[in-house]
Amino acid sequence: MAKKKEMKDVKLKVKRSSAGLGLFADEPIRKGTMVIEYVGEIITNAEADRRGGKYLFNIDSKWTVDGKGRDNIARYINHSCNPNCESSTKGKRIFIHATRDIASGEELCYDYGEEYFDELIKPHGCRCAGCRGKKKK
Ligand SMILES: [Zn+2]
Repeated sequence: MAKKKEMKDVKLKVKRSSAGLGLFADEPIRKGTMVIEYVGEIITNAEADRRGGKYLFNIDSKWTVDGKGRDNIARYINHSCNPNCESSTKGKRIFIHATRDIASGEELCYDYGEEYFDELIKPHGCRCAGCRGKKKK
């Protein structure tokens, strides 16, 4: 079993971004670093379907985290089709890791996944940095 690693707090900042508010690195972050945990109430998928909302983060076939709480600043991380972070689950917890070195001041983003994208992003068009250029053509 992996030992529980001491979590170092990564300095982050909530700021205005192209898609509303976003979460930005406030110091350089190394590839592989655990940036932040996506925290919230753990509910069943059935309950998640009933509640709806855009801060639902599906863990597996049974559980979802409802991350709408104010203490969950990971909810400010926007979707990107060319992200610098990715999420992984450990039991019923969700962690966001850096998938490459991130410079101070860069916006953090991860790929929200196909289902979320089709339901909540596609209808108004993706506003991530990669897609913004394409859309104007
Ligand atoms: Zn995009």
